[in-house]
Amino acid sequence: MHFKEIARFVATGLAIAAIPVALRAQQPDVSKAPVSLIRLTENMLMLVGAGGNIGVSIGEDGIFLVDDQYAPLTPKILAVLDSIDKRSVRFVLNTHWHGDHTGGNENLGKVGALIVAHDNVRKRMSVEQFIKAFGDTVPPSPKGGLPVVTFTEAVTFHLNDDEIHAFHVDPAHTDGDAVVWFKKSNVVHMGDLYFNGLYPFIDVSSGGSVQGMITAVDRVSAMINDNTRVIPGHGPLSNRAELKAYGEMLTGIRDNVRKLVVAKKTLQQTLAAKPSEQWDEKWGKGFMKPEPFIVSVYESLVAERAKGRRK
Ligand SMILES: [Zn+2]
Repeated sequence: MHFKEIARFVATGLAIAAIPVALRAQQPDVSKAPVSLIRLTENMLMLVGAGGNIGVSIGEDGIFLVDDQYAPLTPKILAVLDSIDKRSVRFVLNTHWHGDHTGGNENLGKVGALIVAHDNVRKRMSVEQFIKAFGDTVPPSPKGGLPVVTFTEAVTFHLNDDEIHAFHVDPAHTDGDAVVWFKKSNVVHMGDLYFNGLYPFIDVSSGGSVQGMITAVDRVSAMINDNTRVIPGHGPLSNRAELKAYGEMLTGIRDNVRKLVVAKKTLQQTLAAKPSEQWDEKWGKGFMKPEPFIVSVYESLVAERAKGRRK
């Protein structure tokens, strides 16, 4: 089936319905979720199913994936890819450790893909994790699901006539985030540094930081141009103008919450002050409602102040 037919065949909008389970680090039952594709360039696709958006580079050197959603979706992901190109998946780059971005690792490793990620992705996946915001205990990954190649700062892949540059940013969504910049295709995959149209999840228990989110968004905004296609971890395909608006929202809420933290307000007092009120209508209707989002911003800023005092 040609990609246009597939795109028509699977209903869009289902991705939005899947968001409540899509953000769980645990493996939910997503076997019935459809996988649809969006063609970005001659060489690049974005796949939408349940879990984090997937970026794909396809060409004469094979298939390169950014993230792989959940294990039950691997057959559908491979079927969609197979309908476009018969070559195999050579590399999977994980943007961070969460199960909605790494759940397919073991399956893809079995069919020959090399899994690559930041050092801290492998470290966290190797042992049990607890995500405080969801009360989720996540068991260690089976050995076959762990990244085989890890990097500290950055790694570049020279594939499909592109230069695919993956670089780590200071702790933001977690402490092992990577941004993937397809230089020649002018496409960037932001992982969960970017939730398009939604308040983001900041995983403070995995070392995440609201300040790191803002710094990373500003860095990428300055690196790309108005024609760059921006793949967010969650939400629809985006661009620089929307990414900047997201960064402004994060900065505004960070500033408001910081004032309350500096004034030694408790979490309850901070929530009662409604520091995100002016943004809630536009950003607070998704998976992260205003209250849990403010909790994560507050906890992140309190943790940073405590760290500052210890120095
Ligand atoms: Zn995540």
